[in-house]
Amino acid sequence: MPSDLHTHTTCSDGVFSPEELLEAAKAAGLSYIAITDHDTVDGICQLYESGLYPAKGIKVIPGIEFSAHHEVSQIHILGYNMDMYNRELQDKLNDVVEGRWTRFSSMIKKLQDLGYTIKEADVLKIAGDSTAISRSHIAQTLVRMGVFSSVKEAFDVVLEKGRPAYVGHYRMSPTEIIDLIKRCGGTPVLAHPKLVGDDELVEEMLRSGIEGIEAYYPRHDEEDTKRYLAMADKYHLMVTGGSDFHGIATRFPEKLGIFTIDDNLASSLYKEPEI
Ligand SMILES: [Zn+2]
Ligand SMILES: [Zn+2]
Repeated sequence: MPSDLHTHTTCSDGVFSPEELLEAAKAAGLSYIAITDHDTVDGICQLYESGLYPAKGIKVIPGIEFSAHHEVSQIHILGYNMDMYNRELQDKLNDVVEGRWTRFSSMIKKLQDLGYTIKEADVLKIAGDSTAISRSHIAQTLVRMGVFSSVKEAFDVVLEKGRPAYVGHYRMSPTEIIDLIKRCGGTPVLAHPKLVGDDELVEEMLRSGIEGIEAYYPRHDEEDTKRYLAMADKYHLMVTGGSDFHGIATRFPEKLGIFTIDDNLASSLYKEPEI
């Protein structure tokens, strides 16, 4: 049976609600699934509070995906099995969410100053339930308004770092994130190392307290996977993998179950939930 250790729901930028995701995972015949929304554990909390976690018919692993602060590279760190009601975790996540709102308002203000007629409410309509309001929501709004022909163009012209409506945001450093995950009883794993874009930095991360590496990932080719498996071996780290499923029709994988990993890679992360 296959498993998937990296998925998103409506609690961040995914299309499926946590409930829908579990149903889709069962329909796809998955044994283990981890929910790893950006900067939030709300999905698991929602399931827990509605009596759907622990789930019947599928083994759910609680997770999160943090974006770390770095000058040039994109470093994402997955955390599995943290105590989701830990006070320090909740406080930190609140800081991140608050930072996102402040950033959002400043970007809208900049766009208005540039002469675009965009309003916060327009973007909120598109963002729906998401607490992880992001530049891609703003870009989608601008496309819908007919200002740009694609999300990419919106980024290139106004939203990308260095462009006129860009605003930086509050993020923890990689070591702060790793330490926080561990203090909350969780396991930190480096997400999609290829997307870090710099293998030297990847190795530096692997030496800084990370406990696993996401060697299996849709955008890794065979060579990449081999190289990251060798790194896992070298630093005695756990190997994980996942599809980074968002439920977006144009983004691979369009469906759960198309990109999976062996159960034995997922089973070591599974903990029988305490009820
Ligand atoms: Zn990521
Ligand atoms: Zn992701």
